[in-house]
Amino acid sequence: MTRTAVVTGASSGIGAATARQLAQQGWDVVIGARRVDRLQALADEIGARALPLDVTDQASVDAFCAELERCDLLVNNAGGALGAASIAESDDAEWQAMFDSNVLGTLRMTRALLPKLIASGDGMVINIGSIAAREPYRGGGGYNAAKHAVAALTRVLRIELLGQPVRVTEIDPGLVQTEFATVRFGGDEEKAAKVYEGMTPMRGEDIAEAIVWVASRPAHVNIDTMLMLARDQTSAQVVHRS
Ligand code: NAP
Repeated sequence: MTRTAVVTGASSGIGAATARQLAQQGWDVVIGARRVDRLQALADEIGARALPLDVTDQASVDAFCAELERCDLLVNNAGGALGAASIAESDDAEWQAMFDSNVLGTLRMTRALLPKLIASGDGMVINIGSIAAREPYRGGGGYNAAKHAVAALTRVLRIELLGQPVRVTEIDPGLVQTEFATVRFGGDEEKAAKVYEGMTPMRGEDIAEAIVWVASRPAHVNIDTMLMLARDQTSAQVVHRS
C-alpha cells in the first residue's frame, strides 16, 4: 500500500523541495498551490499529482481534498510574510492576508483532511511554523502574530488528537533562501537579497530533509517541535554577516 502525502505551497521553496524528497522516498505525493503551471512542471518531473489550491478559499480546499482517496501525511507549508511594517504603521490587509494563508489555511486543510488522516491508522500533520512563532522581532508584527497562532493551533490539535492515530509536528525554520523574502517585499529583489547578505542561509532542501526524517519515525514516536537555524543565525535578529 502506497501512502499519500499532501504538500501545500509546493510551487516553490520548502514545499517544492519537500514534494521532491517525499516522492524519492516512495510516497504518493499530491501537491497544491495557486501557480498551477509551476506545480504541474514539478509534478511531471517527480511523478506527483498537481491540483490547484488556494488555502485561503474554502471552496478550493474542498475541491482539492475531494480528489484524494486517502491521506497519510499533510504538510501545511503554504504561507509566508507580507511587509515588515511597525505595529504603529501596520496595514490591516497585510495582517489579514497573513492570517488567512498561514493560520486559517492550516486550519482549513487540517479540518478537511482529518477524517482521512485518522482513517489511515497512522496519520501525520506537519505544520511549517517559523522562528517567528517563537521570537518577536522589529517589523515582525503580523507575521509574528500569525506564526504564533500556527503554533497555538498546532499545540491544541495535538492535545485534541491524543488517543487517535495522528501525530502532530511543528517545524520552525530560521532564514531559508526561497522566494519568501521576495514575496515579503512585494517583488523587490534588491531588498530581498539583503536578508541573506554576507551569510549562508539554509536551503529548502534542508527543511525538506527534516520533514522526511520526521515522517519516517516509527508510529509510536512523535517529533513535537523542531527549531532549525543556519549556523550563521542564533536568533531572529542575531545573524553573523561577513
Ligand atoms: P516561498 O518560496 O515563497 O513558497 C511559499 C509557497 O506557499 C509557494 O509555493 C506559494 O505558492 C504557496 N502559497 C502562498 N499562499 C498560498 C495560498 N493562499 N494557497 C496555496 N499556496 C500558497 O517561501 P518558503 O520559504 O518556501 O515558505 C514556505 C513556508 O515556510 C511558509 O509557511 C513560510 O512562512 C515558512 N518559513 C519560511 C522561512 C524562510 O526563511 N524562507 C522561514 C521560516 C518559515 P503559490 O504562490 O503558487 O500559491
